[in-house]
Amino acid sequence: MIECIFCKILNKEIQSEIVYEDELVCAFKDINPTAPVHILVVPKPHIENLNAVQQQHKELIGHVFVVAKELAKKFGIDEKGYRIVVNCGADGGQTIDHLHFHLLGGRKFSWPAG
Ligand code: 5GP
Ligand code: ZN
Repeated sequence: MIECIFCKILNKEIQSEIVYEDELVCAFKDINPTAPVHILVVPKPHIENLNAVQQQHKELIGHVFVVAKELAKKFGIDEKGYRIVVNCGADGGQTIDHLHFHLLGGRKFSWPAG
């Protein structure tokens, strides 16, 4: 946990551009954005990925989506649309082992994802 980059960002040991924070989540700009708006919404507890989510996290995960849609509005992508992505594990493309939700917008995305 001490070596987790996102825990260090949450603890302000590593600088990031935080756009929202409350007692449950922190949201900051992705360091390597893949869209004009690319924000990571991160639950504060160190949960490794979606596989580690338990019943006790239901309120927390629901809160993530409420925060995400508020950020979509704040960053002006709510009406045109946006995408929320959770990568899980190696095949899912997860590179940071602390559960996070990518909020992506400001351009059109293709589907199915490649
Ligand atoms: P994943 O690939 O695990 O779904 O997403 C990890 C994301 O974290 C990537 O989009 C990557 O650009 C971002 N990221 C990695 N290290 C840092 C960092 O130190 N600061 C910020 N703001 N984003 C980071
Ligand atoms: Zn962590």
